[in-house]
Amino acid sequence: MRAALVNPAWSFDHSIYFGCREAHLPLELGYGKALLEQAGHQVLLLDGALDGLSNAGLAERVAAFAPDMTVLTTAPTYLFWRCAQPELWVPKEFLTALDGRGGRTVAVGPHGSTTPAPTLGKLGVDLVVRGECEEIVARLAEGTALDDIPALAFQRDGDLVVTGGPHAARFTDLPALSWPVEWLRRHPHHHHRYGTEPAGPGAEVEASRGCPYNCSFCAKIDFRDQYRRRDTAIILEEIDGLIAAGVRYVYFIDEIFLPRRDLLEALVERPVEFGVQTRIDLWKPEMLDLLGAAGCVSIEAGVESLTEEGRASLDKKCRMSTDDLAERLIHARRSVPFVQANLIAMAGDDAGMVKSWREKLLAAGVWANDPVPLYPYPASPDYRRLWGEPDDRAWERAHEHYLGQFDRLSDIQEDEPLPLAELEAACSCR
Ligand code: SF4
Repeated sequence: MRAALVNPAWSFDHSIYFGCREAHLPLELGYGKALLEQAGHQVLLLDGALDGLSNAGLAERVAAFAPDMTVLTTAPTYLFWRCAQPELWVPKEFLTALDGRGGRTVAVGPHGSTTPAPTLGKLGVDLVVRGECEEIVARLAEGTALDDIPALAFQRDGDLVVTGGPHAARFTDLPALSWPVEWLRRHPHHHHRYGTEPAGPGAEVEASRGCPYNCSFCAKIDFRDQYRRRDTAIILEEIDGLIAAGVRYVYFIDEIFLPRRDLLEALVERPVEFGVQTRIDLWKPEMLDLLGAAGCVSIEAGVESLTEEGRASLDKKCRMSTDDLAERLIHARRSVPFVQANLIAMAGDDAGMVKSWREKLLAAGVWANDPVPLYPYPASPDYRRLWGEPDDRAWERAHEHYLGQFDRLSDIQEDEPLPLAELEAACSCR
């Protein structure tokens, strides 16, 4: 089979999108390519930002390849599936330009994972994959009957067919990825690294997937949920390949980078720096020292609320006091040049307490963000507490709630986010 895998050319005008807008490696498509090629298929992998192509340009390249199947992601890489943009006009713009020239069209991503019917409807694709996608994409290429492949949604004779719930991949033995040299050259971005000029290309790598916790705001129920560790030898093979290609910084996209002595000790030896997101309450001081010695230069740690009651209401299951969390963050800062404590805006926040805590940490070199409001993603427990299981209006409902709740949005968002229907209708391709 000939398969095209596409990360479209993203644009987030008037979006509430929280994620970083720089180009990142499309890991889900990279794994898909590796599994397809292992099975003998021909693959064209395209990325709007890394190939410097518009959605129309991507469509022409796909059409020229004449694939039997075109797989399109609805969020810009696994790193951002938990905080995806709600709107789907960008993938739709690519599909409109493709105009039926890509064979069977398949959408993967957080939207179809949670709400398959509206994703099929909005995009007009043949299939939606629910959950982690690489293994399902490989099954599709085998030519297996659709009814025998789990985690698909499609229309048959006017009826919605859903072959199963969201898929969780085995993950542990996913092969080491390598990327086109020209992509790495176009990837100078060192994700979530601050206070220094990036030297050399950056890259994203996955050491683990999922998280054993279930914080109320965390949108991972339908993908990247259950915690799994990738084999250390495979991670190191991938990182060694990146180092050989000139990469000097990798960002571990793991939901939660947990203490892992074998990997950290192996990284001490290697000429690469890295960033992680984690929970500081799960790191003992000695392991934080090893993390710094291994080359970690950026930690993003979710503290969320400054009161134990607040953290409990978010189901953080955090056993540390706020003072102990601050002490542990300050300890990390001794060996890691950038440490950030994430805070979430909550009803009843004590503005004075937040201000003085931020000042205390800043004085010790730890950055704590101005608390940002939560978006009740349909894949989060918060959504389900508010409205039950996501239905076909789940994204619209979450969006309306979010826009109505706050008069001040995060400083990384557009000044004037639009209602979802307006944003999707405004696309010139519709
Ligand atoms: S610890 Fe982090 S990744 Fe895990 S559930 Fe909480 S917010 Fe999500």
